[in-house]
Amino acid sequence: MSNGTVAIYPGSFDPITNGHIDILERAIRIFSKVFVTVARNPAKRPLFTVEERMHMIRESIQGIRNGDKIEVIAFDGLIVECARECGATAIIRGLRAVSDFEYELQMALMNRRLSQDVTTVFMMPHENYSYLNSTIVKEVASFGGDVSAFVPPVVEAALKSKFHR
Ligand code: ADP
Repeated sequence: MSNGTVAIYPGSFDPITNGHIDILERAIRIFSKVFVTVARNPAKRPLFTVEERMHMIRESIQGIRNGDKIEVIAFDGLIVECARECGATAIIRGLRAVSDFEYELQMALMNRRLSQDVTTVFMMPHENYSYLNSTIVKEVASFGGDVSAFVPPVVEAALKSKFHR
């Protein structure tokens, strides 16, 4: 049951993986609307452009239940500012393992200092996805490994064409 609360799910999504989708599916069971906010982040030298990343997210959520509650947008700058613009009072972040905790705690506390109006909510993915991240998927794909179990088909195809295999 959603509670009328709007959330943002910020990240690089370079590219979206099944772990991200797992978190999104959990989030839309709780929130009435979830904005997936894709960081432009040129400093991180993403493999995919922000448009490519947004396109892959939109394709990947086509079949998911209540997917109409999800909106995909690009953002630059402060996450709390992005939340304010979206009318969101929650920031969703995924926690996979203890290794995520330190950085996520820092970010959540900093964002709370920057804005009292928004609360960070952590969600744990299914344990099958606890070792999955975009970087490792790109690495496997770059060496021609099979990533079909980790990413939606649209992403698998995009990785293949990026790495010309
Ligand atoms: P960022 O560069 O901001 O960390 P990511 O796209 O890597 O962006 O991740 C966005 C969010 O999704 C983060 O909260 C991250 O912890 C979460 N996330 C990434 N991969 C997974 C996964 N396999 N399972 C659950 N959450 C994940």
